[in-house]
Amino acid sequence: MDGPDLPIRRSRRQLVEAVRERPFLIVTGETGSGKSTQLPKYLYEAGLAKHGAIGVTQPRRVATVSVAQRVAEEMGCELGALVGYQVRFDDCTSEDTAIRYMTDGCLLRQILTDPLLSKYSVIILDEAHERSLSTDILFGLLKKLFLQQKPTGRRTDMKVVVMSATLEVEKLSEFFGHCSVLHIPGRSFPVKEIFCNLLSPRDVGSSAYVTEAVKVALDVHLNEPEGDILVFLTGQNEIERACDLLFKKAESIDYRYEVHDRAVEGLLILPLYGSMSTDQQKRIFLPAPRGIRKCVVSTNIAATSLTIEGVRYVVDSGFVKQLNHNPRVGLDILEVVPISKSEAKQRAGRAGRTSAGKSFGLFSREFWEQCMPEHTVPEIRRTSLTSVILTLKCLSVHDVIRFPYLDPPEERHILEALKELYQCDAIDRRGHVTRLGEFLVQFPLPPNLSCALIKAASLDCEDLLLPIAAMLSVENVFIRPGDPQKQKEAELQHQELASQVGGCNDFATLLNIFEQCKASKSPSAWCQKYWIHWRAVKSAFSVERQLREITTKLKQLPDFPKETFEGSRTEILRRCLCAGYFINVARRSAARTFCTMDGHGSIVYIHPSSTLHNQETLLEWIIFHDVAVTSKIYVRTVCPVRYEWVRDLLPRLHQVDAYELSSVARE
Ligand code: ADP
Repeated sequence: MDGPDLPIRRSRRQLVEAVRERPFLIVTGETGSGKSTQLPKYLYEAGLAKHGAIGVTQPRRVATVSVAQRVAEEMGCELGALVGYQVRFDDCTSEDTAIRYMTDGCLLRQILTDPLLSKYSVIILDEAHERSLSTDILFGLLKKLFLQQKPTGRRTDMKVVVMSATLEVEKLSEFFGHCSVLHIPGRSFPVKEIFCNLLSPRDVGSSAYVTEAVKVALDVHLNEPEGDILVFLTGQNEIERACDLLFKKAESIDYRYEVHDRAVEGLLILPLYGSMSTDQQKRIFLPAPRGIRKCVVSTNIAATSLTIEGVRYVVDSGFVKQLNHNPRVGLDILEVVPISKSEAKQRAGRAGRTSAGKSFGLFSREFWEQCMPEHTVPEIRRTSLTSVILTLKCLSVHDVIRFPYLDPPEERHILEALKELYQCDAIDRRGHVTRLGEFLVQFPLPPNLSCALIKAASLDCEDLLLPIAAMLSVENVFIRPGDPQKQKEAELQHQELASQVGGCNDFATLLNIFEQCKASKSPSAWCQKYWIHWRAVKSAFSVERQLREITTKLKQLPDFPKETFEGSRTEILRRCLCAGYFINVARRSAARTFCTMDGHGSIVYIHPSSTLHNQETLLEWIIFHDVAVTSKIYVRTVCPVRYEWVRDLLPRLHQVDAYELSSVARE
C-alpha cells in the first residue's frame, strides 16, 4: 500500500523511523506534499496505532472533515470506522477508529477529561504554522505534560509530531527541547507575481476588492493559456457575490478588459468556504471536463489547509477575514484586514503546484509596503483568551502568566480574561476555579452563553435556553437574498417570526424559529416559507440534543444549583440571559445610541438585522450577543432588560482588580 505519488512518499521510511525513535518530531514540507493525508496512514500501517489511536488535529473544521474523507477513501473504508473525524458538535468516530482527525479545539476539550490522553499513542498537530489559539495552547500543554516532570505522571510512550509548512521551524524546535526537524523535499514551480495596482492603501475598509477580483479572473480566463484559477476572497457573502458576478458577467463590471458576450463560456465557477456542505466541497477536487477551465473562489482555506491540483493562476484580493480583539469594545470581532506578506507568498505559491504559474495580486506596491505586515500575528496575541484560560485553570494550570507559550500573549489580555472569568463567577478572588467554573467548562460554548444556560437549568427552564444556545452555535439561520425584491419578501417573513413573540427580543425569535420548525410537519417546507436556512436549523437540532445531554448530566450532580423564580416565560428567559450577558449590557445614551457599561463605555448602535432596530427610543437597557464593527459599532442579537435585573450584577463589572486575580496566578 504505497498510496498516491506525492512528494512525501520518498520520505516514508525515514519518517516512520523518526517517529518511532523520538518522543517529539517536527515535520515540514510544502503545502500539498501529503503530510496530512499520508503520514497518519504510514504510522498506522507501521503498527504505531497498536496501543492507542493516532490523533491528528487541524485548526479548521472543513479541512478536518475533508482530509478524513479522503484518507478513508484511500484506505477503502467507511468514514467513521477505521478513519473518522470529530469536530465540535459532530462526532464521526467509533471504537474502531485508529486514525482520528479532529479540530484542535476538540483535542483541547478531551484533555479536560483525560489529561494524559490515554486513548492515543500518537498525537499529530497539523497546520502548526496557522498558529490557531487552540494549537498554541496544545503546544504548551504537550510540552508541560510530556517534557516536564509532573507529579501526576507523564507519558513516556507517547509520540508527538508537529507538522507545519516551512515557517518558524527553528523557534518551534527550540520550544520542544530542540527536537529534530524532518523536511520533506517538495517540488514546486516558479510563480510570477504581478501587482495589478487595482487596490491602494485607501481601499482598506472598502469592498471594492470583490468586483476587482472578478474582473481580473475574467481577464485571466480570456487571455491566459489553459490552467485553473484560484481566487482568494474573504468570506461566504463576498464569495457568493463574486460567483454571481462571474455567472452573469454583471452589468456592474466595467468592460475595460473587453469582456465580450461569450466571455465566461468554458468557465466552471466553484465557491469554497467553511460552512458549505461536504458534498459541495468535494466538487472542488474533481478535475474540470475537457476544454473547461475551473475557477475556484475561496476563503483562506485554500491557502494551506486544502490543496487543489491544476491551479496555474491565483487571483489574490489581498484581504482576509480575521477574528481580532477590539480594544475599543473589549470584544472579539470578525474583520476584513490586509493579509501579511508571508500569507501573500503562500497564496501565490498555490499557482505553482503542477507547472509554472502566475499570481495576480490586486494590490499596488504601495499597498504591499504600507498595509501588509511581514507575518500574520498568531491568534493567541489578538483574540479573547477567556475560554482557554478557564480551560487551563480547570487543568490545574494556575499560573496562566508563566504557562509555556510559544508566543506569550500580552499580560493585559490575560488579565482581561481573568477579570471576565471573575465577573461571571467562574474563578474566585484568588484566581481559583469555582464550582460554577467547573460546570461552565463542560459546555463547548462561550462562557457567557454557558452561564445563561446554567442559570436556566438551575430554574428547571433549560428548554428556553438550549434552543437559543444551539441556534447561536450554528451558522446564521436567516436567508438574506441578494435580489432586492426577494430581500423584501424575506424581511417580511422574518418580521412575522419576530412579531409572534412580541417583536422585541432577538433571542426569543431564535427560540420561536427553533420550536416552530421542530413542531412543523415538514420542517424544510416551513423553512422555505420563512426564508430560513433549513440546513442550519437542522444542525441546531443536533447541537441542542448534545447540549441537553451535558445539561442533564450536570443536573444530576448533588451540588448543581437549584433556584426557584415566579414569572412569565419571557421574563424568565430574559433574566437567565442577564445572568450570562450582563457583561454585554448597554444603556441608551441618546436617540439611537447606547453606551456599554463594562468600563469601556463604548457608544453602540443596534444592528439593522435586529428586530429592535428603529425601536431604540422605546428602550432603556439592553443586552446583546455580539458586535459588528464598520464605521460604527453595531450590537447584534439584542434583548431589552430591566435595570432591576442587572443592578445587582453591575458592581461585579467594576469591583475587581485584575492584578489581585493574577497575583495568585503568579504564586
Ligand atoms: P499537506 O498536508 O502536505 O498540505 P495533503 O495531505 O493535505 O498535503 O494533500 C495531499 C494531496 O491530497 C493533495 O494533492 C490534495 O489535493 C489531495 N487531497 C487532499 N484532500 C483531498 C480530498 N478530500 N479529495 C481529493 N483530494 C484531496
